[in-house]
Amino acid sequence: MSIASASLTPLTSAWASNGASAVQRLPILVYHRFADTVSDSMTVRTSLFKAHLRLIERLNCHVIPLQDWVDFRCGKGNAIPERSVVLTADDGHRSQFEVMAPILAPYGWKMTLFIYPSAISNAKYAMTWAHVHEMTRSRQYALGSHTYWHPNLIRERGNMGLDDYRRFVTKQLTRSKDELQQRCGQPVSLLAWPFGLCDDDLMALAADCGYQAAFALGNRTATVNDALHAEPRYLMVDDFSEQRLEALLTSIFHVKAPA
Ligand SMILES: [Zn+2]
Repeated sequence: MSIASASLTPLTSAWASNGASAVQRLPILVYHRFADTVSDSMTVRTSLFKAHLRLIERLNCHVIPLQDWVDFRCGKGNAIPERSVVLTADDGHRSQFEVMAPILAPYGWKMTLFIYPSAISNAKYAMTWAHVHEMTRSRQYALGSHTYWHPNLIRERGNMGLDDYRRFVTKQLTRSKDELQQRCGQPVSLLAWPFGLCDDDLMALAADCGYQAAFALGNRTATVNDALHAEPRYLMVDDFSEQRLEALLTSIFHVKAPA
């Protein structure tokens, strides 16, 4: 794909000093479903998704694997490039295989799929394991856990005693991680909270279950100051027009879009 590069005008560095550590603002985008028309709140029109990708290319952003950001945060990786963006998709909806993947393929950009295994090859709306295998075989996609059956973990806490609740959460986190790793043969160390809901207790349980990092929602950029197990993501819905995304990214990166 061609890259419209040199016409961007940096106004300031995306890095800001914060004592000893540099702070970078990283937009992490999360998509769910794709279709020609919008039939529910989580669907993004195919035409809009295409426009988002063209915009990211036009702004000369670096689409980096989510793991690069986590490695950087854990002190195991290099600093990430300025103007980095991360793409993620939750829930394993069938349209991610049928609609999204063919559109994203020519760009070669990496994306992390957060999946809850109980739906795969089971729910009508979801991908099959064959779909998941095909996507992860290409190495364009990494897998993350979205718990085992996508419960509302905050609401469930009111339904049982504390010990039972912690056992329930631990099972949701470990069963998903184990099944994804066994079926797809790649390590799974990242988690997305169902509905973006978490609290300090859940974050501690995620760390205990071997998750390096976890992701919520929040419509703001992730920074090194965020809790590693509750990093925010921008929810991409059909209201997130090309113009809105352009305004957001140019503001985050302090650049002017090419005319
Ligand atoms: Zn979800």
